Amino acid sequence: MLVVWLWCVVLAGFGLASDRRVCPYCKDDAALLAASGLLTHAPTAIGALGAGTREEFEAKLVGPAWVFAETAHLRIAFAPGPSNVDQGDRKAIDAELDKLRALLPSVPVKPKKLDPFLRLHLIALRGERLYERVQEVLRVSDADFPEQRESGKPYMGNGRFLGEKDKFELVIHATVAQHRAFTRELAGVEVTDALRWHVNSAHKLLASIPAAEAEFKDDRWLFPHIAHNLTHSMFCAYKHYSYEPPPWLDEGLALAMEKEIELVAQTLEGEEGTLRDVKTPSDPWAAAKKLGLSGKVKGLAELLYAKNHTELTPERALLAWTMVRFLIDEHGEAFARFAGDVKGQLGPDGRPSGANLVDLQREKLREHFQWTPQQFDEAWKAWLTAKR
Ligand SMILES: [Zn+2]
Ligand SMILES: [Zn+2]
Repeated sequence: MLVVWLWCVVLAGFGLASDRRVCPYCKDDAALLAASGLLTHAPTAIGALGAGTREEFEAKLVGPAWVFAETAHLRIAFAPGPSNVDQGDRKAIDAELDKLRALLPSVPVKPKKLDPFLRLHLIALRGERLYERVQEVLRVSDADFPEQRESGKPYMGNGRFLGEKDKFELVIHATVAQHRAFTRELAGVEVTDALRWHVNSAHKLLASIPAAEAEFKDDRWLFPHIAHNLTHSMFCAYKHYSYEPPPWLDEGLALAMEKEIELVAQTLEGEEGTLRDVKTPSDPWAAAKKLGLSGKVKGLAELLYAKNHTELTPERALLAWTMVRFLIDEHGEAFARFAGDVKGQLGPDGRPSGANLVDLQREKLREHFQWTPQQFDEAWKAWLTAKR
């Protein structure tokens, strides 16, 4: 009985995996892969897993139904199945599919469902677009990041990927059990919600994301959540992840990128990893305005002192979003200099140092904006008052 059962499982697993071997859109054709911004659909070394055959790779990851994509800056492993297109997302998805169809002619017109390869291609395209957008906000490009730190040049970290040595990785699981097994293997802890991890040996950042919850079943909500996590990875990597960036700045930027994609999406940092806030305000601007002008939170003069993400309550995180939004929209150049200086502080010995980040931020606020934290708050509140 047991043997029969096992045999059935093996057959079912094999059937599923073999159906998913070849991408129906680019057909693993080199020219089509390149046209759609992909280097390969083959599994490559993700996390601490070495490269291997697909079978070896799939045996190491829980579940047989993985599909893979590697782009110029990203490596993606994706396990969820097909998703329905949310009606609220129909126009946006159709526009994305139109762009993808120009590159891959067999992409369907207005499909009811998106199959895993289509979802993967869209995540790859959108992920690269996010990479460009974060670089635009930080006013940097790939050319600014040498392979190694160069003496006599401004410090930019230790590698080509914003200051890290290797690409950014996204592992998107179909079940929480898969995600927990993966985080246990990678980090030695079982985490329920999304986990970001610096793989020290390879100098790369990875985000492991469970896409099992109802709110992540379709890409309207999943992608903003991916973007939030990827932005954190990118900002941490910027000029090398040598110390934790100030939480208000890190969170504010991640929320800014997430909300550029979907205004009402809001990812929260929890004790058990990063999750989507299901009680997110339906009008975040109105909520932020009410809170920011209420005096309940003092503003940056208060948020500067938050030492970690758990000290940023959902309310304070919402305000951090508007603060970073204000800086990007009204003082973009100065914001980029501020963020770069805060991320790349060097100690007296010339090594990266996360010492006295509050003092550093006060100094850089004065240098790049001519503001004290109190003056920042006045300017930000005036902007928030006039907003909509
Ligand atoms: Zn493909
Ligand atoms: Zn966050």
